[in-house]
Amino acid sequence: MNRSVVTIHYTLRDPQARLLDTSEGGEPISYLEGSGQIIEGLEEQLRGAAVGLKQRVEVPAAKAYGLRDEAQVQRVPRSVLPVEGELKVGDRFQAGEDRFAPVVLVVKIEGDEVLLDANHPLAGVDLTFDVEIVAVRPATDEELSHGHPHGQDGQCGC
Ligand code: ZN
Repeated sequence: MNRSVVTIHYTLRDPQARLLDTSEGGEPISYLEGSGQIIEGLEEQLRGAAVGLKQRVEVPAAKAYGLRDEAQVQRVPRSVLPVEGELKVGDRFQAGEDRFAPVVLVVKIEGDEVLLDANHPLAGVDLTFDVEIVAVRPATDEELSHGHPHGQDGQCGC
């Protein structure tokens, strides 16, 4: 497969048309196809797109951040949580020392127990992207071996 480095401007909205994220007003983002840098459902629909194209891309939750998993909602004793001080509904914190530990949301506090949701905040949310293709070029051998795009001067940012 020929893999390209694609540069896009994007604006991301949820089904209520609320703005979740945008690159407008900043630098466009570049990704190497097939490297998992952007969500699968978006990359799939942009494959082969031409420079200058402006397109609305709808990505169902299952191909974005996944569906919600109610097994990820758990009741735990307040005393086991790695949080000092006051805890409020709506707080998010990392559930463990490990930097890959999931970020959990406090859904409810009932006495000495806390209801936590470890789903990704965008799990179960269908996403709408307004995308403009800014540039497309073949990936270099170096980029393919590193698994990420390099800057316009070919410099590696890692
Ligand atoms: Zn590199």
